[in-house]
Amino acid sequence: MLDFSFSDEHESFRRTLAEFSRQELLPGYTARSASTEFPFALLKKIGDLGVLGIGLPEKFGGTGEDDPVLLGIASETLAYGDVNLASAPIQVGLVGAQLLHGTEEVRERYLPPVIAGEENLAIALTEPGSGSDASALRTTAKRVPGGWLLNGEKTAISWAMTASASLVYAREEGTARSSGVSCFVVDMSTAGVSVHHMRGMGCLPLGWGSIHLDDVFVPESHLIGEEGRGFQVAMNHFDFSRAAIGLMCLGAAEQSLEEAAAYALIRTTFGKPISEYQGVSFPLAEHATYIEGARWVCYRALWLRQENRSHTSLASMSKWWAPVVAKDAIEASMKIHGNLGYSAEFPLQQRFRDVMAYLVADGTAEIQKNIISKEILATKTVSL
Ligand SMILES: Cc1cc2nc3c(=O)[nH]c(=O)nc-3n(C[C@H](O)[C@H](O)[C@H](O)COP(=O)(O)OP(=O)(O)OC[C@H]3O[C@@H](n4cnc5c(N)ncnc54)[C@H](O)[C@@H]3O)c2cc1C
Repeated sequence: MLDFSFSDEHESFRRTLAEFSRQELLPGYTARSASTEFPFALLKKIGDLGVLGIGLPEKFGGTGEDDPVLLGIASETLAYGDVNLASAPIQVGLVGAQLLHGTEEVRERYLPPVIAGEENLAIALTEPGSGSDASALRTTAKRVPGGWLLNGEKTAISWAMTASASLVYAREEGTARSSGVSCFVVDMSTAGVSVHHMRGMGCLPLGWGSIHLDDVFVPESHLIGEEGRGFQVAMNHFDFSRAAIGLMCLGAAEQSLEEAAAYALIRTTFGKPISEYQGVSFPLAEHATYIEGARWVCYRALWLRQENRSHTSLASMSKWWAPVVAKDAIEASMKIHGNLGYSAEFPLQQRFRDVMAYLVADGTAEIQKNIISKEILATKTVSL
């Protein structure tokens, strides 16, 4: 039997979070997002709501039970108010899932403050010479007594400027592609670590930047997972973050479309509300349709993950399609607002710039389409 409804618990959580998002996050979003200051006080509030520990062990402050759908609901609803803060549960989910492969020392040090919203961790994979082709990374990890020495440069890293530590991927010298890559948790205060701000067109509070590693010593205890297998662990978790990112973008689009509908009812031209012109009402209908379709692709990917079933293709569909649907819906909402849509006083242009990030971050559309098409083609047999 098909059932597209959320459980009672999910629905109640969704309502609580939607109210929090619109009342506490939305009013300050435009001002906050134009600044490079990270709103730690609000992150703490989100942590207090239990949103940052979804699926992470209770002994560190998490919810315990793995619940990807709940993470999707959190990402979507928080984005009504602030799409940048809405990325926090996804980042913590990704970081937390990897830290669980670390030593008890590392888990105890980092998981409680990250789940509480007191600290955040960056994920440093991309380098100047390797983004989509992540396994071409060149940062090295050289064995020394008691640990490793890391050397290299990471670029385009979210949270680089505010993170207390970063998950850094580095390879043993002489290895190639994904083999020989390990994941380390590197405290940003370690000697040899330096960060440099990169100014993007949006997502300013997320502290986008580069991380330089110059003979950075990492102790044995800070290896995450098995030596030489860090790449495989990271890739496994991108499947849930991709669907959650899709929902986050759609949350920002849903809010924009609501604002456009409300504005269309009060703005009059030629003696009647603009909502009475099909040139205005049809885009509302069309983008609501696209959003609804994309939402269910994302939720189905998360539901399949919850069921422990294969969902890589659906996660990639969510990641390439939902941000495009969201960006187009926000653009339409801006147009319905006329000159006000372009105004920096209104949140629409800000959402447009923030959502644009996800056309690239966490894997471009082309890379997602490669993943999807590979799966389609692998199931076909050719008879000539
Ligand atoms: C806002 C933002 C936040 C980010 N945060 C992080 C972060 O926290 N941590 C992190 O590690 N990285 C982060 N990134 C980096 C991001 O993951 C990479 O930018 C992304 O994977 C693309 O890599 P690239 O920029 O090197 O582009 P490239 O890989 O050089 O690609 C350039 C273009 O070529 C296309 N292309 C490349 N290969 C193929 C192919 N095989 N087939 C078809 N087309 C192809 C791409 O789709 C793209 O259009 C972030 C990026 C942005 C914009």
